Amino acid sequence: MDVLEKMRELVNKLNEYAYHYYVLDNPIISDKEYDELYDRLVTLERETGVVMSDSPTKKVGGEIITAFKSVTHRSRLYSLDKVKSEGELYEWERRILKAVRPDGYTVEYKYDGLTLVLTYEGGQFMRAVTRGNGIVGEDVTAQVLTIKSVPLSIPFKGAVEVQGEGLMRLSELKRYNETAIEPLKNARNAAAGAIRNLDPKETAKRNLDIIFYGVNYIEGERLESQQQAFEFLKKNRFRTGHHVFCGDIKAVMDEIRKIDEKRHSLDFMIDGAVVKVNSFSYREALGYTDKFPRWAVAYKFEAEEITTIVEDVVWNVGRTGKLTPLALLSPVELSGATVRRATLNNYIDIQRKKVKKGCRVLVRRSNDVIPEILGATEYFPGNEEIAILSKCPACGFGLHFDSINLFCQNYYGCEPQIVGRLEHFASKDAMDIEGLSEMTALQLHRELGVHYPHELYHLTEADLLRLEGFKEKKSRNLLDAIQKSKDTTLERFLYALAISNIGRKSASDLANRFGTLEKVLSATAEQLLEIEDFGEIMTRSILDFFGSEYGKIAVKGLLDAGVRVKGAEVNAGGKFAGEAVVFTGSLSSLTRSEAQQLVRREGGVIFQSVSKKTTLVVAGEDVGSKLDKARQLGIKVIGEAEFLERLR
Ligand code: AMP
Ligand code: ZN
Repeated sequence: MDVLEKMRELVNKLNEYAYHYYVLDNPIISDKEYDELYDRLVTLERETGVVMSDSPTKKVGGEIITAFKSVTHRSRLYSLDKVKSEGELYEWERRILKAVRPDGYTVEYKYDGLTLVLTYEGGQFMRAVTRGNGIVGEDVTAQVLTIKSVPLSIPFKGAVEVQGEGLMRLSELKRYNETAIEPLKNARNAAAGAIRNLDPKETAKRNLDIIFYGVNYIEGERLESQQQAFEFLKKNRFRTGHHVFCGDIKAVMDEIRKIDEKRHSLDFMIDGAVVKVNSFSYREALGYTDKFPRWAVAYKFEAEEITTIVEDVVWNVGRTGKLTPLALLSPVELSGATVRRATLNNYIDIQRKKVKKGCRVLVRRSNDVIPEILGATEYFPGNEEIAILSKCPACGFGLHFDSINLFCQNYYGCEPQIVGRLEHFASKDAMDIEGLSEMTALQLHRELGVHYPHELYHLTEADLLRLEGFKEKKSRNLLDAIQKSKDTTLERFLYALAISNIGRKSASDLANRFGTLEKVLSATAEQLLEIEDFGEIMTRSILDFFGSEYGKIAVKGLLDAGVRVKGAEVNAGGKFAGEAVVFTGSLSSLTRSEAQQLVRREGGVIFQSVSKKTTLVVAGEDVGSKLDKARQLGIKVIGEAEFLERLR
């Protein structure tokens, strides 16, 4: 076989594998095998100086271009008419029924990306063009060439123009933002920005995708319906969009509801559904207005993202003294609710998102109650920078900046901290004192001068009766609840102290690792860092807390008040009693945290890295360097099977 034939064969094979991987999401060979073939092709291309027009090596991105050329579309692109409710959809159908009686509709996702039209001639990818004004668009061939799922050659040999939506998957966006200096605000802008980048290598970094839903122009074959268009696209190896055929408008509405329900679980953004008359002969009869086809309509869902103005930024002081900025917004409707405020995690977040007072920002409804600001979108004259605070807005005390967050260190005198701590102390997973709400905590502090949690245990009925809204019964109940909380566990006690960065899980880890309060109090940095999932920041928070004036008074005060802390149950007779266990690699029959819980229950302690103190290493699949270290130190290593055996 001559070298060119060999290269042809490699290109065909690689394209076939890429199709299974990127379009069908169903790889048929391993990454390693793919990489080997790919490297072989690269070598041959270098040796011969020949690169086939559909070679996968073109997907890494070519030379920087100087400008986008204008290209006229063979078939004009239209916008879509829009409806927002079931009533409006039925209204749209009534207008259609005046002219024709369609045989059915397709319902598709309305992808929220940017339109791309790809031209193929003689089975070869020729060019990709943006929508532009619908008549003339910009040539973005070099950019689209980098998209892995786009076929560079197709079986169909006539001239054809296919339309799809360029987009960035949300998982890709997340991956990209994990290391990006400047995070991308949303997937649509991210995709549009990448396509409009003159350097295709930059486009390649964003790992875009295109999902196809239309055949705008075709020579040498007649398509009769939208369903046939989808068949054509699939046969020619394009990634096709979601499409369901519905016989009547009621079925259309049912499908739209289904899509609305599942849209949040998709890996890309959609902002609605597109309903299209299926049969092309009816489409021709219906025709176009000067803006959109009469045979299609977009059913728009309620916006998930919207822009509004930041009127002000205020800072809330939390129970650990941490200050969290909260943006006060001009009220807007978002997913059926009025939004007036949004979080901005910390000062660094404000800078990264370039938020100024008075500017316009993009806001997204997240799973939390308070929506999130994605970034600034527009500035106006006179917009003010948001300055870093130097004084606590609640108490006027100087602030400490740990390079991400601001803290008020006035533990004793800062009201929101005191009240927040009392409320947290009483909460369900902490000391579980029923009836001690935020409101009550505020009263106890303001009226009765309660600063520290232990002062709760010295309250009398006479004290409570002085508070507004407290009659005998309510006072008694609260006092009883306070008394009852005196018997507690180490885990609850540690959590109740409101140490920064120590939540329920870390409190429980601490209790399990050290067993008694004395041991926790005398823990060293080294010991703390050994605990799985404990890092520098958590370790510092713990040491700082117990070393502080406030921490010392708080702990001693509670013990003096008669709080009894029951140590962690250490199962001395358990199957892992006395063992210091390290896990490495992944287990197949249970998750690592399940396995760790079992070890703890059986009296063992979990460490995160192998040291001389380790007594046992449990090794699963894909083990890392921990195993080498264990061997070096001569520590016993067991596999998953033996681990399960020991638990039995
Ligand atoms: P609009 O720009 O809001 O009028 O909506 C028209 C745009 O919707 C088109 O330019 C396409 O980019 C986009 N679109 C997304 N999904 C589809 C789809 N399934 N069918 C047709 N257009 C779609
Ligand atoms: Zn303060």
